[in-house]
Amino acid sequence: MPALFNTYNRFDLSVAEAEGTKVTDMNGKTYLDFGSGIGVNNLGHRHLTVQEAVQDQLDKYWHVSNLYHIPLQEDVAQALVNNSAGDYVFFCNSGAEANEAAIKLARKATGKTKIITCKQSFHGRTIATMSATGQEKIQTGFGPLLPSFEYVSFNDIQAVKNAIDADTGAVMLEVIQGEGGVIVGDPTFLKEVEQLCKDNDLLFIIDEIQTGIGRTAKPFGYQHYGISPDVITVAKGLGNGLPVGAMIAKAKYYDVLGPGSHGTTFGGNPLAMAAAKAVLEIVFQDEFIEAVKNKATYLREQLQSKLGELPFVSEIRGKGLMIGIECKDDVSTVVSSLMEKGLLVLNAGPNVIRLLPPLVVTEKEIDLAVQLIAETIQEN
Ligand code: PLP
Repeated sequence: MPALFNTYNRFDLSVAEAEGTKVTDMNGKTYLDFGSGIGVNNLGHRHLTVQEAVQDQLDKYWHVSNLYHIPLQEDVAQALVNNSAGDYVFFCNSGAEANEAAIKLARKATGKTKIITCKQSFHGRTIATMSATGQEKIQTGFGPLLPSFEYVSFNDIQAVKNAIDADTGAVMLEVIQGEGGVIVGDPTFLKEVEQLCKDNDLLFIIDEIQTGIGRTAKPFGYQHYGISPDVITVAKGLGNGLPVGAMIAKAKYYDVLGPGSHGTTFGGNPLAMAAAKAVLEIVFQDEFIEAVKNKATYLREQLQSKLGELPFVSEIRGKGLMIGIECKDDVSTVVSSLMEKGLLVLNAGPNVIRLLPPLVVTEKEIDLAVQLIAETIQEN
C-alpha cells in the first residue's frame, strides 16, 4: 500500500507520460484524454509553446519571494484584466485559494460576513471554501463550518432575494456548476443577481475556476451572459498543468488589500507565471476562441445525433467544451468501461458523464470519443 492518504477514489491507471490529447500508462496503453486533468490541460499535455516558456524560465530563476517585483506576474495580470471585467489581480496556487482571497476581500471591503452561495456548488476544500460549497458530502466530519454562508437554489432569484440581509456582503456562484453536475446558469437569473448585488452593495463574485480560460468558448464563462462581476476567480487551465490560481477584481477594491494584508509564498511563482503567460497568449486570441466554438458546436451536434435518442440518456447540456451528459442511472460503470476502451472521461455526481476535452481536440478525436461513448452506453 502506498504511503499516501486515501483521499482520492483512484482508477487503476498509472500515468507514464502524456502529450497533446493523449495519456500513456505504465503498460504502454494510450488513452484519449477527455478530462484534461479535470479541466486543467486545456492546451493539451506538454503544449510545446508552454513547455518552452517554462523551460526558458527554468534556466533563469525558479522562485524569488514576493518581496521583489516579478515582471512575469505583471504580464499575466495585464492579460487577465485586458480580457475580463477586472482591473487588478492577486496570484495564488489553486482554485480554493483564489476563492479564499475573494471571501477575504468581500469581508474586508464590506465589513460584513455573510456570503450567499448556491446549493450543488463547488468552491474548494479549505475551511472557508468548503463552507462556501453547497454540498453536504464535501463538509461531513469537518465541522463546525464557517457560519456565514447561506445556500440558495441555483437559478432561483427569489431565493437569493430572500437570503439577503443586513450582514450580507457578497453573492458567489459558478455560471455553470461543474462538480454539481454541469448545471448551466440561466441568463435572466444571472442578470438579476447582478442587479441585486448593485442595489444592495454586494460583491458579485464569479468562480471561473472550471469555466474560465477558454473552456466555454469565451475567455471567461460569465461573458456569455452580458454581466460584469466585481470579482472573478480562476485556476485550473491558467497554468495548463502548473499550479496557479488568481483572483481578479475591479479597481474599486484595489485599496482593500494593502501591503501585508494577504499573501502566499508561492503566489505568482515565476515558473507558473511563465506557463500562464504562454497559455493566455494562445487562448485569448480571437481565432483560438472561434476554433473552440466551432469544435464545441461539432461535439454537441455529434453527441445529440449519436446519444440524444438513447433511452439511458436524459439530457446533454453545457457550454463550449464543458459538457454534461445526464443519464438515468449511475454512470460509474460507463466511465470505467470507457477507460478500458481508451477514453478518459469524468463524472459529475452519480448520473452525469462530464466531458472536458482539451481545447485543442480535433474533429477526428471528437468522432472517436462520441462513438465510444454511444457504444458503451448501449452496452451498459
Ligand atoms: N471552484 C470550482 C468551480 C472548481 O471546479 C474547483 C475544483 O474543481 C475549485 C473551485 C477548487 O479548485 P482547487 O481544486 O484548485 O482548489
